[in-house]
Amino acid sequence: MAGQRVRSPQQRYKCRTQNTQIVWARRKDARAKLESNRTRLTEEAATLAEQRYKHYSTIVTNCLRLKELDHKFTELLQQEEQFPPELPDTKTLYSNFYNEMMDFATNLVCASCGCIDHRIGKFEELSIVDTSLRHLHVDPSIVPFSFSSGISQLDEQSIRIDPARIVQGPPGDIGSLLICRLCYRSLENGVQPPESLANYRWIGAVPPELQGLTWIEELLIARSHLTGHIICHQNRNATSYFSLKGHVILLPQAPTKLLDVLPLPPSSLPDIVHVIWVGRPVRNVDVLRDHFSVRTHKVYDALVWLIHNNEDYKDVTIDRSLFEHWPPVWVADDLLNLTGGLALEDGSDEENT
Ligand SMILES: [Zn+2]
Repeated sequence: MAGQRVRSPQQRYKCRTQNTQIVWARRKDARAKLESNRTRLTEEAATLAEQRYKHYSTIVTNCLRLKELDHKFTELLQQEEQFPPELPDTKTLYSNFYNEMMDFATNLVCASCGCIDHRIGKFEELSIVDTSLRHLHVDPSIVPFSFSSGISQLDEQSIRIDPARIVQGPPGDIGSLLICRLCYRSLENGVQPPESLANYRWIGAVPPELQGLTWIEELLIARSHLTGHIICHQNRNATSYFSLKGHVILLPQAPTKLLDVLPLPPSSLPDIVHVIWVGRPVRNVDVLRDHFSVRTHKVYDALVWLIHNNEDYKDVTIDRSLFEHWPPVWVADDLLNLTGGLALEDGSDEENT
């Protein structure tokens, strides 16, 4: 190219040599700096370690640690000698298991907030004449239903408790109440427990219209169905053992908007419920009819009550044409006619119902 200086081979060699020397010098400097940093960091770490451990005597620490290790090793040898441990008496084992299960099967409920637990250690017992119970007072003029507990000492002060949680002592003794630790702490501090029924958290007894609804009757008046149901039916022989086996099944849920027209048409029930027969394909539908029966008047009364009393149901429209066509009691044949089947793996000849 015009104006570019042309170098001889000797000049090019000299230039390359100079460049190499410059790069080498730079690398040497970088290596020296790295080494210097490493040395400085090592010295700093040593100084910090010295400050950290200067109060410890290495000899004493080693002696204690060795003693601890010796002790553990001795224990390990003893455990090996005693292995296998003697089995406890089967009767004691069984009674302990039974007692533990019975304890867990007993519901203990807080008289103040109604929470449930099984461990008595989670509760305190409070006499019904304890003055701290005054913090569970409710103004009867603003509560539209009776909350009498049947205990004069409490009723006279309009104290709201769950009457089922009264602990009866020996005859002549003043009764007491089970109170959960959380509520007990609030009462001790002289304030009303935030979770207490007295804090207007008691909505009254379940109205007769909503009592005794079966699972399928509840399904028909629910505005949404958050879960699917799988109903598995099987009759087992008296001599066989019940067992649970199978797999975890994840069912995809398709969120839909809340239903505004109720009851749910029976033809939609198979979208929510699946009935599975387990065992030999003997399908005695007649035996199952009780489980899938619907009482039309119960469904209607419950729906009407909800529309009149429940905020979430106030805009719901009743599909009266369905009620007009339903007999007083009917069976959800849409479900029974679509049942699937599962064969038993153990080959037992149990009859299905
Ligand atoms: Zn409580």
